[in-house]
Amino acid sequence: MKTSKAQKQELQEARAQSHKTKRPTVTALEKILHEPIPVLDHGFIRVVDYMGDDAAIVQAARVSYGIGTKKVSEDAGLIRYLRRHLHTTPSEMCEIKFHVKLPIFVARQWIRHRTANVNEYSARYSILDKEFYLPKPEHLAAQSVTNRQGRGAMLSRSESAKVLKLLRADAESAYDDYAYLLNDDGAGKPKDKKRSMLARELARMNLSLNYYTQWYWKIDLHNLFHFLRLRADAHAQYEIRVYADVMLDIVKKWVPHSYEAFEEYQLYAFNLSRTMKQVVRRMIGGEQVTQETSGMSKREWAEFVAGLGLTT
Ligand SMILES: Cc1cc2nc3c(=O)[nH]c(=O)nc-3n(C[C@H](O)[C@H](O)[C@H](O)COP(=O)(O)OP(=O)(O)OC[C@H]3O[C@@H](n4cnc5c(N)ncnc54)[C@H](O)[C@@H]3O)c2cc1C
Repeated sequence: MKTSKAQKQELQEARAQSHKTKRPTVTALEKILHEPIPVLDHGFIRVVDYMGDDAAIVQAARVSYGIGTKKVSEDAGLIRYLRRHLHTTPSEMCEIKFHVKLPIFVARQWIRHRTANVNEYSARYSILDKEFYLPKPEHLAAQSVTNRQGRGAMLSRSESAKVLKLLRADAESAYDDYAYLLNDDGAGKPKDKKRSMLARELARMNLSLNYYTQWYWKIDLHNLFHFLRLRADAHAQYEIRVYADVMLDIVKKWVPHSYEAFEEYQLYAFNLSRTMKQVVRRMIGGEQVTQETSGMSKREWAEFVAGLGLTT
């Protein structure tokens, strides 16, 4: 992750600020506020601001006149109850704002989550840096043969070296052409005075999807949990999952009781369908149930076995 001198200075200034407030703050989150946490080769996540804490959820649930909290154990119990029964509006009282730097192909998956507020870096207005994502060799894998949306076996060393060489060459050549089209000398004047400077909004279109973009992304805790459940899941693409993993850690610092309830009832939980419940009852009754006798398709059976961690 590269930060320019000017960006380092801005971050330092942001971290040096402190404010006196009557609003609740969370010490563990304050410690990492404005701190870019590296993700992938050039990306990061940085918490810019937040509102609320575990107590704000309790306060909203109780529609309290004061801070709303009772004993820590009672509050934690209430938070668990709310999440267990998907009484989610109290968790919408907490909000968090991130600054995220991410490859464009990751941003395309991320932006599908419509319940956030987003403002993206404008490549119509500014020139994108020459920063593109190259996977580590251990993340280069062949197309999965069992899941069309996934990776299978790792590539051999020689094959992954070839793939990386190609990815790098393509990204570099695309950037060279971008720079040629922009024809910008760095001060907004044409480098080659005999040629026009193509509009930035047009020049950007030949960049590859592994180029990095940035945005501010603000979301409430309920919708953030929805995002994290989908994107921290093993089925999500590695390159978005690593961002979700960093965010899980941030949420754990921010609202530890809510995070614990989320882990318990959503992140590591598994929904049983009607048929699955019947199969579990049959198994408890001592019956040897197989996929063929379960009433489930092969795929559903595999998900059931994996979801319950069974060995059949
Ligand atoms: C593993 C994985 C694979 C995927 N593969 C594909 C794919 O191949 N192709 C593809 O196009 N997408 C794909 N997606 C994206 C997926 O279909 C969702 O668009 C994405 O996960 C956002 O989910 P969401 O709509 O629930 O989230 P959000 O947009 O954050 O919405 C949260 C919730 O708000 C409600 N909501 C929000 N907006 C509306 C609305 N307009 N109308 C009704 N309800 C609304 C819904 O209840 C929704 O669940 C994939 C996602 C994952 C995690």
